Amino acid sequence: MSWLRPEGVIIDGELHRGLEVAIHHGVIEEIRASSARPEPYILSPAFVNAHSHLEYRGMLDQIPHPEYYEWIYELTRLKPLETPEFVREQCMVAAKENRATGVAWMGEHSDRTGSAEAMIANGLGGWIFQEVITANDADVAARMKLLRDRLTQTKALCTSQSSLSASLNPHAYFTVDRQTLRELGENGEPSSIHLAETIHESNYTRTGTGPLADRRRSQGIPFEIYGQSVVEVLNDLGVLRPGMQCVHCCDIDKKDIEILSTSGVTIAHCPRSNVRLQCPISPVREMLDAGLTVGLGMDSPASGGPIDMFAEMRSALDVSHERNAPLTPQEVWRMATSMGYQSFGAPKGDWNIAIGSKTPLIAISATKEASVESMIRLGSPTSTRWVN
Ligand SMILES: [Zn+2]
Repeated sequence: MSWLRPEGVIIDGELHRGLEVAIHHGVIEEIRASSARPEPYILSPAFVNAHSHLEYRGMLDQIPHPEYYEWIYELTRLKPLETPEFVREQCMVAAKENRATGVAWMGEHSDRTGSAEAMIANGLGGWIFQEVITANDADVAARMKLLRDRLTQTKALCTSQSSLSASLNPHAYFTVDRQTLRELGENGEPSSIHLAETIHESNYTRTGTGPLADRRRSQGIPFEIYGQSVVEVLNDLGVLRPGMQCVHCCDIDKKDIEILSTSGVTIAHCPRSNVRLQCPISPVREMLDAGLTVGLGMDSPASGGPIDMFAEMRSALDVSHERNAPLTPQEVWRMATSMGYQSFGAPKGDWNIAIGSKTPLIAISATKEASVESMIRLGSPTSTRWVN
């Protein structure tokens, strides 16, 4: 058994001083009042990256286009230029960087191969979502067979690490056909979908206007106009149900938030990516007040930038103030730890510092005067190290 004597311990987002923590074989055995002079660091549960795309690490700072649709068309153009070996290497780099910034668990969207190997090699637990994209496929059944085969391969790799699982997920409303969306809603498995990231999704479903609708028309592909927001349409399709994590939720209104909070979904908030791609600022304050579970995700390095959970937390605080609907530093820390973990349905165990907990722990360099806010403002991967 070893005793940790930090300056402070972050328990459920709140900083507690004057405590020491005993660890034995990775389990917290005891928490008691300090018996010796503390060392200059803060002890915290490791971070949870609620939404990630390791495979785009090679596109960090490679796409200058400022707006979402120009950006994603460029990303789509660059993708086939990357070799499978390069993608695997970049997944490794990104997984290592997640580890370096204190992430132990993540929700990973994966289109190409490489995430599972990289997460296993770097001791990262989490959920791998094999992205389903069918909107441009004439033969949806053939595409689904290919994706199911890929999922089987990923699941076989996951068995080597008990804290890694995999399932299929719909990439977004506009990239998946309606029948497949219904099926992925019905199967009840843990899943994740990009939702209302831009204003274009609800313009597409509500009035059939904007770049999504224009693209469909130029391709000669028919589409339905519902007079409803994308949240309402997905809810009617049965996609919004417990176990579904909705990523972004930037362009949503009061009615959408009500639907989200009654449907049992959870949310992943990715503020740096949203700022970079000129998305509306997500109404996280309102979602938390409505009782929704919101995790914090770093998204893809092609939009979110360098893999740094402290930078993501700073952005979450800053954009909430910009909206005049501030989050507290404690809420943001919870979003980056325990709430992020809870955003994946109901994974086994807790994600906190408590007796009997096996939650991975990190130590972040800090002075006596440290607060949760100063940790967010001043923290970086270089000030973070692993405890267990
Ligand atoms: Zn994403």
